Amino acid sequence: MPAHKSVKLNTGAEMPTLGLGTWRSQPGAVERAVAHALKHGYRHIDTATAYGNEKEVGEGIKQSGVPREQIFLTTKLNNPDQRNVASALDASLKALDTPYLDLWLMHWPCPMTKEGGADKERDWRDTWRDMEKVYKEHPEKVKAIGVSNFSVSYLRELLKFATVVPAVNQIESHPLCLQEDIVEECRKHGIAVTAYSPLGSDQAPLLEKPVVKKLAEKYKVAPSNILISLQANRPGVTVIPKSVTPHRIEENAIIVDLTEEDIKALFELEKENHTRFCKPYWTGWGNIGFPDLD
Ligand code: NDP
Repeated sequence: MPAHKSVKLNTGAEMPTLGLGTWRSQPGAVERAVAHALKHGYRHIDTATAYGNEKEVGEGIKQSGVPREQIFLTTKLNNPDQRNVASALDASLKALDTPYLDLWLMHWPCPMTKEGGADKERDWRDTWRDMEKVYKEHPEKVKAIGVSNFSVSYLRELLKFATVVPAVNQIESHPLCLQEDIVEECRKHGIAVTAYSPLGSDQAPLLEKPVVKKLAEKYKVAPSNILISLQANRPGVTVIPKSVTPHRIEENAIIVDLTEEDIKALFELEKENHTRFCKPYWTGWGNIGFPDLD
């Protein structure tokens, strides 16, 4: 992929299309993964307070030798921190050992208690208002704010009262769960989308799909490149495959231009077998507006 390929956010900033995901990337491995990715051309790293690895992600960034200002760094507000937005941001900055974030996302529209259940006394709308406040008062700490796991109905609700339109909505997306309705809604409002779990999450089950393998042969690339390229070929979409394996990190960075027919063939998969790998029920907030989960 040309290093310059990026999506322009509604803030004017450029977000590199390809990023490295770090969920389930353990301390010890994640520093090496982040440093390896950055040394091999990645300029976008995705983490979250919930992943328990912000400190190590920060160390990986330093080990890479790539200047901080050349890197697009995203982290996410943890569900149990929705009542203390400003101090959660400071804690993330401290853990990552960075003066600022390029993007800070509300991880789920699901406030939770420290014990882990739904915090029904807290409204995620107030969390967004608090995020807007920090963003407006401290532009030196956070360059853009956004959301994650927002369905169409949650996005519409947000846009009724928001004074800052989210820069990004980060959602699960791969050929078994494309969520084109959300992507369309985001495009309508100038919100970029980041596709998570592009390989089907843990153990990358989608690499085995015959159509994915066939397209990999056609383009003489690995199956992972087809799944990552599918997202990178969608206008306004960025993609964050996770790996802690050096050769896979390098391999995943190849993006090919798929034809409309290739994309159509990949879009067909969902009709046979719609599958979501990351369901929101554990938050205690039900299906949070995802009709396919009813
Ligand atoms: P992915 O779809 O990125 O798949 C990760 C799995 O694929 C790992 O088991 C990895 O193994 C394996 N893998 C990676 N590359 C290859 C390859 N070339 N060949 C074979 N196997 C490969 O899953 P994730 O769920 O991790 O999603 C990506 C990122 O999205 C997350 O890490 C996180 O940053 C973000 N995310 C955000 C969520 C949210 O709520 N906002 C929810 C879920 C994810 P190995 O590491 O051992 O190489």
